[in-house]
Amino acid sequence: MFEYAPAPESRSIVNIKPSYGLFINGVFVDAGSGFKTVNPASEEVLAEVAEASKADVDRAVKAARAAYPKWTRLGGRERAKYLFRLARIIQERSRELAVLESLDNGKPIRESRDVDVPLVAAHFFYYAGWADKLNYAGFGPNPKPLGVAAQVIPWNFPLLMLAWKIAPALACGNTVVLKPAETTPLTALLFAEICQQADLPPGVVNIVTGAGATGAALVEHPDVDKVAFTGSTEVGRIIAKAVAGTQKKVTLELGGKAANIIFDDAALDQAVEGIVNGIFFNQGHVCCAGSRLLVQESVYDEVLAKLKRRMATLRVGDPLDKNTDIGAINSAEQLTRIKDLAQVGEKEGAEAWSPPCDLPSNGYWFRPTIFTGVSQAHRIAREEIFGPVLSILTFRTPAEAVEKANNTPYGLSAGVWTEKGSRILAIADQLRAGVVWANTFNKFDPTAPFGGYKESGYGREGGRHGLEAYLATR
Ligand code: NDP
Repeated sequence: MFEYAPAPESRSIVNIKPSYGLFINGVFVDAGSGFKTVNPASEEVLAEVAEASKADVDRAVKAARAAYPKWTRLGGRERAKYLFRLARIIQERSRELAVLESLDNGKPIRESRDVDVPLVAAHFFYYAGWADKLNYAGFGPNPKPLGVAAQVIPWNFPLLMLAWKIAPALACGNTVVLKPAETTPLTALLFAEICQQADLPPGVVNIVTGAGATGAALVEHPDVDKVAFTGSTEVGRIIAKAVAGTQKKVTLELGGKAANIIFDDAALDQAVEGIVNGIFFNQGHVCCAGSRLLVQESVYDEVLAKLKRRMATLRVGDPLDKNTDIGAINSAEQLTRIKDLAQVGEKEGAEAWSPPCDLPSNGYWFRPTIFTGVSQAHRIAREEIFGPVLSILTFRTPAEAVEKANNTPYGLSAGVWTEKGSRILAIADQLRAGVVWANTFNKFDPTAPFGGYKESGYGREGGRHGLEAYLATR
């Protein structure tokens, strides 16, 4: 591996305040208590953030309710202007957002700068374009918004998940209360400042920080009309129960255990890039990560050798260094979860391999790891590890590949690598997964709908389909 001199992105562009309030009705307000958010790469405390109580959540929902009639009456053309303005400010402040995201989340600057933030702006641009065309979106001649949307998001793509939730909601004429994850609140709070900068009418976007209890108070609030959640299947179940029997419209985007299927006729060097991107992108903290590799037996040895060679070139370390491929694990809890499951893998008889690499002494780190000798019954082949850990299985025939790929309670995504177009179509047709990538992996675009089957949730985000979640179509 070439030795590169460190190329750290400067953090001076970001002005992190010592403490942050809640963003309610267009202003930052204090809450009774707070919690600290840390940089997972160094364990340094970045800021103290307000913890919203039930009463604070109520204030935020009331502000969103009060803002709703005027926001809706503005009409799509006027709402679009605000969305375009938000998108442009996001672009203008993209370096600041990317550095802050890497500091609070631990993801490499290469990803926050080149993937997350550009996609965030793209989502706002895309849904700004829809705002005045809702009559032509295929949901009836004059589709109506739902009202107040309660949105709860996870820590793996903090700003991008915010964009996936807020952009379509506002375009359709809803107002929102959003709760970011406890460990990654800072870019949502910077987005709140961007809402102020864009002169967004007060109450249209409200941001309440806090932990699980704040999220629960938000989704259970009787005056919200829509619940949108991305996170674990476990919490998704709790939310589905909490809203059952109410009029609330719900979309859930939950876990995954995607199969990435490599056929023997695939371009193997490209496939290896896809395997690496599929599982090591964002430290594997990706719901649609290609965490189960299915390799056709005849090319298994070759793929494994190429994969190991490629993994030995991955740079693990400082997320702000522009050379870094794999950053920090987002929290101590997540690191424990990954370590525990990796241990289970070894105990159950699978064999772990990681390239030699030095890890920083502070912060939360896990080496990119592959497991061979994995059988379908192993927990590492069934459960979402949500870290840089790949389980490798083999197959002999296309039918076996499909059977194994679908042998999971999840159904969010999958990948197929082959040179035959007809095989791509035939296999994709049989896979029970919301997204199937062909000869690529982890590619996202605001025009493409995203969502799961089975325990991966229901509803779609992105694209024209994503509008449906925020319109009264029943
Ligand atoms: P959670 O599902 O617990 O968190 C997602 C969001 O929901 C966070 O904002 C969380 O707040 C909030 N929340 C927690 N409990 C409740 C509740 N009862 N009602 C409403 N909102 C709630 O994910 P974790 O962060 O705990 O991660 C656990 C596992 O989930 C991971 O190991 C991974 O396997 C999976 N996961 C999957 C994701 C996906 O995109 N599919 C994303 C993140 C995690 P808080 O942050 O304060 O806990």
